Amino acid sequence: MGSSDQAVFEPKGESKSRISGLVRQLAWGALKLLYPPHCYLCNAPIAAEAGYICSTCYAGLPRPKPDEPECARCGGPLTAGADADLCLDCANRPWFFNEARSFGFYEAGLAELVKGLKYGGERALARELARYLLEAGEGLLARAEALTFVPLTEAKLHQRGFNQAELLARELSKLAKLPVVPALAKVRETADQTALKPQERLENVHGAFAPVGRARCERILLVDDVYTTGATAEECSRALREGGYEEVYVLTVARTRWKEASDGAQSQTQARA
Ligand SMILES: [Zn+2]
Ligand SMILES: [Zn+2]
Repeated sequence: MGSSDQAVFEPKGESKSRISGLVRQLAWGALKLLYPPHCYLCNAPIAAEAGYICSTCYAGLPRPKPDEPECARCGGPLTAGADADLCLDCANRPWFFNEARSFGFYEAGLAELVKGLKYGGERALARELARYLLEAGEGLLARAEALTFVPLTEAKLHQRGFNQAELLARELSKLAKLPVVPALAKVRETADQTALKPQERLENVHGAFAPVGRARCERILLVDDVYTTGATAEECSRALREGGYEEVYVLTVARTRWKEASDGAQSQTQARA
């Protein structure tokens, strides 16, 4: 994957030194990611075995407090003092997935890591983020029989050269010792979700995903980088159920935070991607 997207260099004359400089730069970048001497976020020196960020930055990643009540379905924070175990959003509509969980919030350092992978092309960050998925998805991974990922269209895959959700699933697969099955296809392109309102997001992704082949097991876990309104997770889960999977779990690195609106209803902050 991806190699066909790389430009073919044919060094000639004066461009040769510029290209070799670029190659050196790329090689150094790759080396730094493989053996990172510095924290990806704050640049503090770290031990190579520490991963990609320092312990201070790791401790500061935006996560829910351990005693914060979470929605049994989507894993989002519950309104303080709520007696239900579902958030308003989950209580008000049926979902195709059984449970969704995220490591933390799509803010600060965690958003920076996700963007570094997705837009910065720092593929090695998938290994770091997969460790977070393993931590956050302990309960779900114990029940899942296989992993899958939110797919891209063929055109988008060629354009980007990789699918960050697939990279995350493949790294998580090594840690969780579960196989990755390609269970979904994205059958049409969708507009960038970040600029859309929640209802528009649902319409935007409606029918965009289709099951691939027959279900290989009963319980499957869908991996993605960010959970915003749950529209993508929901559409993918619908397609997975259509494909024969009986239970669908969703695991993402980050989610956008619920905010208490002035009228007491919950509304979700827009992703600042
Ligand atoms: Zn740091
Ligand atoms: Zn919920």
